Parts: sequence; structure tokens; C-alpha cells
Amino acid sequence: MAARARHVPLRRCTSCRRSRPQAELLRFYQRDGVWHLDAARRAGGRGSWLCADTPSCWELKKLRRTFRSQAEAVRALVQAAVSDPHGAQTEAPHTDNTHDPEGNRPSPQSL
Ligand SMILES: [Zn+2]
Repeated sequence: MAARARHVPLRRCTSCRRSRPQAELLRFYQRDGVWHLDAARRAGGRGSWLCADTPSCWELKKLRRTFRSQAEAVRALVQAAVSDPHGAQTEAPHTDNTHDPEGNRPSPQSL
């Protein structure tokens, strides 16, 4: 019997350079000079990937290397996506009145 390894497509996070399965990353694509979240991972164009579960990959200093002046907008999209996995929004984040007490930390710096 031959062991058959299932092929998982890997993508590299633009911040930490780790290669990970697509499902663990968020894809962004650039269109008309503007970065958008590619929730379905199917949009064309130039793409960049970020870890969906690693806040250190969303630091502005790292994001600016790839997203330049749009680093803050990209970080807002990441945070909206990870706090609302069903939302899959590609526009600016909305705040709604469903409050999740877990997994929704606004800022690690509270000192
Ligand atoms: Zn990363």
C-alpha cells in the first residue's frame, strides 16, 4: 500500500514569510491601485497573503512594506474579517450590535 499525501496548496504570508495552507491566510488583491480583501480567494490581479490568526503579522510596520499608505486600511480589513468570519466583507468594516466577548480584543495595549 502506498501512502498518498494529499497536496495542500501553500501560500506565503507577506509579513512573516511563512508558507502555510491557503485556508489559514487571508488574500488581498490590488485593483486600480487599491487593496481589497479577497474573501473568496478567487479575484485576479496581484495578490498578497497574511496570516489570519497572527496579530503580529498585522503590525503597520510590516504591512507598510507591501501595502504602503494603505497599511491601516488593510489592517482594518483583516481585523474585520477575523472578528466576523461570516461577514466576508470587502468594503470598510461595519460595526454591528452582536458582541462577542471572546476572540474580539480591540487592543493588546491597555496599560
Ligand atoms: Zn504571517
